[in-house]
Order: sequence, then structure tokens, then C-alpha cells
Amino acid sequence: MTTSAELFEQACRHIPGGVNSPVRAFKGLYRPPVFMERAQGAYLFDVEGKRYVDYVGSWGPMITGHADPDVLGAVRERLNNGLSFGTPTAIETTMADLICEIMPSIEMVRMVNSGTEATMSAIRLARGFTGRDKIVKFEGNYHGHSDSLLVKAGSGALTHGEPSSPGVPASLADHTITLSYNDIDEVERCFEEIGSQIACIIVEPVAGNMNCIPPAEGFLKALRHVCDRYQSVLIFDEVMTGFRVAMGGAQAYYGVSPDLTCLGKIVGGGMPVGAFGGRSEIMQELSPIGPVYQAGTLSGNPLAMAAGVALLSKIREPGFHDALAQRVDTLCNGLESRAHEAGIDMITQRAGGMFGVFFTGQRSVENFAQATACDENAFRRFFSAMLEHGVYLAPSAYEAGFMSSAHTPEDLQVTLDAAEHAFAQMTSR
Ligand code: PMP
Repeated sequence: MTTSAELFEQACRHIPGGVNSPVRAFKGLYRPPVFMERAQGAYLFDVEGKRYVDYVGSWGPMITGHADPDVLGAVRERLNNGLSFGTPTAIETTMADLICEIMPSIEMVRMVNSGTEATMSAIRLARGFTGRDKIVKFEGNYHGHSDSLLVKAGSGALTHGEPSSPGVPASLADHTITLSYNDIDEVERCFEEIGSQIACIIVEPVAGNMNCIPPAEGFLKALRHVCDRYQSVLIFDEVMTGFRVAMGGAQAYYGVSPDLTCLGKIVGGGMPVGAFGGRSEIMQELSPIGPVYQAGTLSGNPLAMAAGVALLSKIREPGFHDALAQRVDTLCNGLESRAHEAGIDMITQRAGGMFGVFFTGQRSVENFAQATACDENAFRRFFSAMLEHGVYLAPSAYEAGFMSSAHTPEDLQVTLDAAEHAFAQMTSR
């Protein structure tokens, strides 16, 4: 049997860091990543035959569990027709109609191949529509790895962006203004000064890339008001939250309508899919009817559409998201009480089917500074102990956890038992 450690060593020869996306490498966790062989329902099975209760769900898409028979069946049914035609297909219209019905703020939508493409294209469209260059994002929000969005905060509202990565030109980063999440005063000050130059605000309506941070009361509504006042475009990046915190996404959950929405993950049922859509007036600026260019060889691919349509249709059943949120509550309340009993400072935060675990003595975590002030070392020990006890959490303190409808009460109990052991291990060392 080849072990994960051996496979990782082999992978590192021709793949940078041994992985095709950085967080998979378990960097900073003092152990090689686990190589998975297959997945079913709530479980992952590694190459050494060990089973894990999975709370990553391929980083979000697997909301009904892995290898969902309805999704696989839909893909199988189309497989023999061919993989891709590069022509229009009827199922793309089915997908567009479905998205527009589920999210009424979306009047027109275009399919792409990843969340990164969705946000990158939405930003270009907002710039083209407004004729303005500057964009506002929030510290600790992740919108994929396109140049304009790979920028972290400088201090203060109007400090110009500083690239998060070599290779992002400073001249481009200069157009990205990064503000503090949940701080509406900072947003208002920024717009008072240069609002007429700002094309858009892009925001994760529940932040899921600095662990899980729901918006403060009134934050999203305030963003809506500011954008209306300055005729800037409000973009909700619902790549993670779409169809997860509620069927209609965070916009339905919090009752705030953006101008444009970015989607990914669940919309593709586990295939490489993203989408962006919104008000027709803006979407009609897109090529071929308008001047803003955007394209994709495999965009709207029929197999990917089949998987997405099957999954979206399945989770529209009434009560699906309430049941998911209930499972999240059971898990999070159980984790909190076990941590408390063990004398460990830990809190959870949640929104619908997503959640986060923070090792902190604070009562809540509301922004990037507070998220990074949490005890990362405690997280590492917790993660390792949970892995050992057969629970697969995201291998980073800054990722949200995802629940699926395949997680049974027994799976949650297995997780809570594992956590009890993990907390005991953490306090005994
Ligand atoms: N936006 C958000 C909110 C995300 O969480 C992610 C990925 N986790 C992206 C965009 C980028 O999506 P992708 O990895 O599919 O490019």
C-alpha cells in the first residue's frame, strides 16, 4: 500500500508544493496532507483505507454529501452524448432560468468555470458599466486569485492597496481599496472622499475565508445605501454562501439585494463551474451585445450544467436548509459545551449551512484583525487530534466548515466524541 506521505513525496517532484491549490498542502501543520481515494455521503476515505467524517465537502459544493446518486446519474445520462461542443446547448438555458428563479436579484447570468473567473468578470463589468477604475474590498475577504482582488489592506480607509503576491503590478493594486469588514464608518469615510471614482464594492456577505464571520447587524444594508448614493455597483460574492446559507443565498437570508452576484461551488454540483449575474441593465454591457469582453472555451459545459442543475433542483425541497442549519447548531453547541467543560477558550460562529470554530476568549469575532488574533497553535493541535480521530476539518484556521445533508446524528456524535478526546489531549500536554 502506498501511504499519503509517499504519494506526497512523489507529487512534490513535478507539482509545486505537491498540490494544485495551496491550502491542500497542510502547510504549517507539521505533517503531509492526506491523499484521498474516494468519497461517499459524509465520508472521505484515504489511500490507506481510513474513513473520515468530512466537513470540507470539496470546499463547499457537496451540500448533499459526496457522490450524490442524483448528481452522478444526471452526469452519466449526458456522458455518452460527448463532453463539450462549444455551441449553445439547451441545458445552459435551464441553468440560467433556475438561477434567476432562485435568486430574483439576478435577471441575467453568465456561466464561467470557477469562482475566480466569476469575480474577475464581475469586477470588469462593474468597471465597464460605471466607467470608473477603483474598487473596494474588505480585509480577509477572498474573491479568488485574479490580480485586482489579490490585494491586502493598508492601514486606514484610503491607504492604497498593497499586492498580496509578487506578480501583481502595484499600478493595478493601486485601484483596489481594502477596508475593514463590518466597519461601515470606514466605508462611508472612503466614499465621502473618493466615492465618484469607485466602480464597485465587492463583499463576501458572510465572510468564509477568514474562518466564518457573519455580517454585523445592518452592515450589508449600509453597503447597499452607500452604493445607491454614489452610483457604484454592489457585488455580493456568493461563491461560498450561495445556495448554502439559504437557497436564495445570503441576499435572501439577510434581505439585501446586490446589483451583481458571483456564484461557484454548489452551482456546479462538484464540477468546475462559476457564474455571475444581476441586473439586466448591467449584464447587457457584456459581449456580444455590449462592449465588455468576457468568454470561455468550456463555459456552460453540458456535463457541468447537468451536475449543477441536478444539485440545485434537489436542494430546493422545502425545509432542506432549515434542517442543515439545525445540524450546524447541534454540532456547534456540542463543540462549545465540550470545550467549556475542558476549560478551553473556544467559540463558534454560523450562518445556515456554514460554521467556524475560533480559539479565543472573545465573545465574537467580527473582522480580520480579530480572526488573526485567535490562537492558531490551539487550532493546529485541535485539527491534528480531530484528524487522528477520523474527522476531516479544513486544514487552516482561516477556513469555514461546511455541513451536508448526508451528515447523520451518528456522524455528529462521532465528531463530538472526537472533539472531547481532542480537547482532553490539548489540555494534557
Ligand atoms: N470567492 C469566494 C467567496 C471563495 O470562497 C472562493 C474560493 N474558495 C472564490 C471566490 C474563488 O473560487 P475558485 O476557487 O473556484 O476560483
